[in-house]
Amino acid sequence: MGKMKGLKCRECGKAYPAEPLHVCEFCFGPLEVDYDYEAIAATISRDRIVAGPKSLWRYIDLLPVEKEATVGLHGGFTPMIRATRLGQVLGLDALYLKNDTVNHPTLSFKDRVVAVALTRAKEFGFDTVACASTGNLANSVAAHAAQAGFKCFVFIPSDLESAKVLGNLIYHPTVVAVEGTYDDVNRLCSEISGEYRWAFVNINIRPYYAEGSKTLAYETAEQLGWRAPDQVVVPIASGSLLTKIWKGLKEFERVGLITGVKTKVNGAQAAGCSPVATAFAEGRDFIKPVKPKTLAKSLAIGNPADGFYALKTARETGGVIEMVTDDEIVAGIHLLAQTEGVFAETAGGVTIAVLKKLVAQGAIARRDLTVAYITGHGLKTQEAVAGTLGEAVYIEPSLDKFQRRFRLKET
Ligand SMILES: *Cc1c(COP(=O)(O)O)cnc(C)c1O
Repeated sequence: MGKMKGLKCRECGKAYPAEPLHVCEFCFGPLEVDYDYEAIAATISRDRIVAGPKSLWRYIDLLPVEKEATVGLHGGFTPMIRATRLGQVLGLDALYLKNDTVNHPTLSFKDRVVAVALTRAKEFGFDTVACASTGNLANSVAAHAAQAGFKCFVFIPSDLESAKVLGNLIYHPTVVAVEGTYDDVNRLCSEISGEYRWAFVNINIRPYYAEGSKTLAYETAEQLGWRAPDQVVVPIASGSLLTKIWKGLKEFERVGLITGVKTKVNGAQAAGCSPVATAFAEGRDFIKPVKPKTLAKSLAIGNPADGFYALKTARETGGVIEMVTDDEIVAGIHLLAQTEGVFAETAGGVTIAVLKKLVAQGAIARRDLTVAYITGHGLKTQEAVAGTLGEAVYIEPSLDKFQRRFRLKET
């Protein structure tokens, strides 16, 4: 084992041991996991992956753990759906949806990052796990902590959707609802993490946590028949997922599993919280923090930790970062459900609405092999669509009443 070399500063390149560290002492840049790619290339193969577990752990050779997986054994390996009907509506011949609405156990892409983070937290010997969350991360940390026997604190903004609050409480963690935005929650958690020896999955063990997102890229390439897509559309909260999808595709190329990666990495934000899309539109290379005001609460990070890197990735790959209004988000949720039978949360609505916009702008062409990432389940954000739905038709239990009500003829 030991394919992980250690951590490395993304800015100055200084190397660190694979410890619970996340910022460079010299330049304050973020730390990232570094691997011995030659050693990985020598042993990894398509056959070896295919023979592995039907979970994200089939890619363990490229994940930052020292021994075997111990937490989140059933996460990942979600369906890749050929979206023919949605493609017809949008004008795309080869559209696929990566459906993380059915991820195990908490119905969002966060089950990937948490499986990796908590497996690593066990290796470090932590007994308490915690997170600052916009909702889905808290649900996933709470569920995995219950299963793995960690003590657990989750910190959320106090205005979260009710299903996301309930989706924490059911696992019996300590739920701390902070009166403020996610950015306030995150700042508070940074202070708390300096006081106690807890594994804050997205603070002190963030480098390991973030690597879990790469499995979405690995699965994409494998499920498309060992090739990279031409275009991907990825929702942005902190920006980590977008950068890791790109890192994952490049790593697969580097270790010889796929060739010719020319994927354009596109990002999607809500207009009510669009610090990265706005910087993209204005041609800036720095992010101006904003105060979020959008239905898409899972993406409502006003000061995104990886915003700068997400911007850079989109620009370098020829992608675009776009934003859509709350009305467009709701329309995106409806369109996806009506054409593909997939009920996504607000982040999925953001992705679909941005996809539509990019096709209309000509940034994505009809023949492009395109993957849209649907990262969370709609039952978690029912408030977003309440009031936009039709109503059930109530009838008495009689055939006659039924036929009359719908003006159907007797046969
Ligand atoms: C957290 C989250 C994202 C994006 O996460 P990043 O912070 O950008 O890595 C996307 N969709 C959903 C549903 C999420 O919960």
